Amino acid sequence: MSRLRTIADELWTGARRTDHLSILSTMVPLEEVAPGVAFHGGFANVIAVTTSDGVVLIDTGSPMTAPVVHQQVRAWTDAPAHTAIYTHGHVDHAMGTAPFEAERPLRVVAHEAVAARFDRYRATAGWNTAINTRQFRIPGLKWPTEYRYPDVTYRDRLDLDVGDTRLELHHHRGETDDHTIVWIPRARALCTGDLFIWAAPNCGNPQKVQRYVVEWARALDAMRGLGAELLLPGHGPPIFGADRVDQALRDTAALLHTIHDQVVAAMNDGKSLDEVIAAVAVPAELLERPYLRPVYDDPAFIVRNVWRRYGGWWDGNPARLLPPRDRALAAEVVALAGGIAPLVARARAAAERGDLALACQLAEWAHQAAPDDAGALAARKDVYRQRADGETSLMARSIFTAASEGR
Ligand SMILES: [Zn+2]
Repeated sequence: MSRLRTIADELWTGARRTDHLSILSTMVPLEEVAPGVAFHGGFANVIAVTTSDGVVLIDTGSPMTAPVVHQQVRAWTDAPAHTAIYTHGHVDHAMGTAPFEAERPLRVVAHEAVAARFDRYRATAGWNTAINTRQFRIPGLKWPTEYRYPDVTYRDRLDLDVGDTRLELHHHRGETDDHTIVWIPRARALCTGDLFIWAAPNCGNPQKVQRYVVEWARALDAMRGLGAELLLPGHGPPIFGADRVDQALRDTAALLHTIHDQVVAAMNDGKSLDEVIAAVAVPAELLERPYLRPVYDDPAFIVRNVWRRYGGWWDGNPARLLPPRDRALAAEVVALAGGIAPLVARARAAAERGDLALACQLAEWAHQAAPDDAGALAARKDVYRQRADGETSLMARSIFTAASEGR
């Protein structure tokens, strides 16, 4: 069995487990996965399809991976690149056209919302540098401000005939508002973009824009109807075989449907966000599936995304509508506790008995009230370190780790 198929099989059977970094980097050299369809496993995957008019790329990688992707495609075929399709405008997917365009002009096709995403990225480059440095823990990361905008856009569906090969582009909202899934009938291959990534869906990300939970679930339902025999995801290895593909799509949809429906039901009951979070039960057996472990996003964040979508940012607690400044509240808590030291002691005691959420809140108050207090600083460092170590999701781990490092 090839290296890629071996990894795919081991992940599926559980012989190899995903962790908070593995889903972002299969790191398998380009390999042909169906006649005329090649798959490059990188930080984000790239798929290349040969046609009688040249190569179609589905995603193109990041600025960092672009030269490697180009080199590997060129080792596979010397046919010129004809078209690149972005599954969405994230920078790990839509930044690798340059080496191909240096050879000859390339047509770039994407959903119509990709251009607005690039505009937003240019306007919020500083913010995106900060949050992605924190999330991915890449020091020195600089968010790009130059993008290769698409030449051809579409709204709902586009059938693209390139030479002898048809590619069906279907738009769905999910992780983003600009997603395209690509169905290649010739190979019965489904390119999902990030609507499947070998992890609980990136549908709650605390630092980023709105995700679309029920639309994502419906997109997965629709994909099941295609009868794919090969699933080529945005991250992680392919899934080989119709049964496995169907199961992966079905389970992922089930996770999103139940979270969405439970949040909406609780909101309709008039619950506050705090009560909604307590009311939603995420099926543990789904999170145990090898392709749904919460190693990147956390289902608790998905609950908040549904709330934000339908309910706005206010959490239903009237004290938090126009709240006191953090430091004013922290100073009052310190006064009630009788000083910084007793509060720090309570934080450490909470951590010791495993109540890390409470420990972090108490330590945070102590630190906010007295930013230079050595005891508060040390407690904050320790409780966030302990908390980061206990989290499965990259997103929670990264934010808690940054806090433990004083950021
Ligand atoms: Zn991605």
